[in-house]
Amino acid sequence: MPELAYTPLDEIEKIHAELKAGFKSGKLNSIAYRKYQLLQLGYLVQENADRLEGALKADLGRPGVEARMVEINPSLGEILSTYKNVEKWAKPESPEFHMNFFAMRPKINKVPKGTILIITPFNYPLWLAIGPIVGAIAAGNTVALKPAENAPATSALFAELIPKYLDNDLIRVINGGIAETTKVLELQWDHIIYTGSGRVGKIVATAAAKHLTPVTLELGGKSPVVVDSTCDLKTVSKRLLWGKCVNAGQTCVAPDYVLVPRSFHDTFVKALKDTYDEFYPPHAQASSPDNFSRMITPQAFNRVKGLLDATKGTIVAGGQTDAETKFIAPTIVTNVGADDSLMSDEIFGPVLPIVAVEDIDEAIRFINSKDHPLALYVFSQDQAVKDRVFKNTQSGGFSVNEVLIHPGVEGLPFGGVGSSGYGQHTGKFTFDLFTHLRGSIDSPSWLDRILSFRYPPYTLKKYKA
Ligand code: NAD
Repeated sequence: MPELAYTPLDEIEKIHAELKAGFKSGKLNSIAYRKYQLLQLGYLVQENADRLEGALKADLGRPGVEARMVEINPSLGEILSTYKNVEKWAKPESPEFHMNFFAMRPKINKVPKGTILIITPFNYPLWLAIGPIVGAIAAGNTVALKPAENAPATSALFAELIPKYLDNDLIRVINGGIAETTKVLELQWDHIIYTGSGRVGKIVATAAAKHLTPVTLELGGKSPVVVDSTCDLKTVSKRLLWGKCVNAGQTCVAPDYVLVPRSFHDTFVKALKDTYDEFYPPHAQASSPDNFSRMITPQAFNRVKGLLDATKGTIVAGGQTDAETKFIAPTIVTNVGADDSLMSDEIFGPVLPIVAVEDIDEAIRFINSKDHPLALYVFSQDQAVKDRVFKNTQSGGFSVNEVLIHPGVEGLPFGGVGSSGYGQHTGKFTFDLFTHLRGSIDSPSWLDRILSFRYPPYTLKKYKA
């Protein structure tokens, strides 16, 4: 792994104080200055796209096309659409007209919260940092970014490029591992957004509670796929296998496992295997080293390999592993029971277990017996099936006949529910997340001609007049 210079522990408090002072400086009161910073961020990504692609390759073995498709271009898209909309989003709003209050000129003002802490994970180290930075700056906040130490090349690039392109008073990078993040979390922030595992999410929320700091937790979980016999087989097998294999399955909204009616099981598995042979002839490692990401660390490799070694299911495609290159082939496993090793936790690797169920109702019961997932996928052409699954389950997001891309769909909120997290972001939702709605009134003196009943001495006569 490339070396990453950690921020010295004794500098963290200074950075925090400088960002607080940066907020007080009032520079970001100017929307034009916010837009200038957004533009600079756009140039940072655009002018360094090749280097960012290289860093993602170094960190995750990420194929170049995938890096552009799921990180670099969506980051630019988020910057541009926020740049275009920030004036509109930042405009004060008026509440609904009310006879009793309109003369007080009530206003809903969109004011920044202050200094935002963003803690990001290794798996989408660029997009998950850029999106929150964009929303925080657009809303007028200063920002501390604590990128993932497990994506050292990307995190090092942030430390190099952010001071070059952006105003140092307003945004800073703090690099480090647990010790540095622990130190960061001792300090008072005005909002924390954490993306990562639920285990660390609890640590973050606990630390934030000591300062009554609002928190957004973007977590993970096992995102199920329900396949019904009316589905378009070619579409489901392509989209599903692609969605599982992007970033070698290390995607928070990756389809984790499939629930398929027993009567349709064999037809579905055959279609999936045909697509597998099309995507990865004869298998990903040998045929296309630039077609498939690697596991992030030896520990991550060992964890997923351990799950595969322990499964009681039948591996019908893939299964090859190579510790040296942290490679796990895209793998399809059938005959997987509810108590299988692959069904305990989020897999976060390129292994797709298929669980046979009697019917859609059993699939719904299965999903509801587990924590609320971040994403829920249904492949069906039957509207009644789509509706039944939607109405009888809970999940962060819901996609029909599609996987993985809903977080990037402009205008949709992205966030979890229950153990997959709380709070939403992307686009305007990120702007709103880091905005305090400061209600205000400006009451003219002449109103006392109408409202003088409120002053003592109280009399019923005055009140009713
Ligand atoms: P990770 O190991 O990269 O950790 C994430 C961040 O937590 C890092 O910045 C790390 O420094 C910090 N951290 C780790 N241990 C800590 C501790 N003890 N105290 C304080 N900070 C600590 O990433 P991860 O947690 O393995 O990420 C994978 C998880 O993230 C998966 O569950 C995935 O589903 C989830 N995820 C969710 C989303 C989403 O948008 N909801 C996106 C990506 C990943």
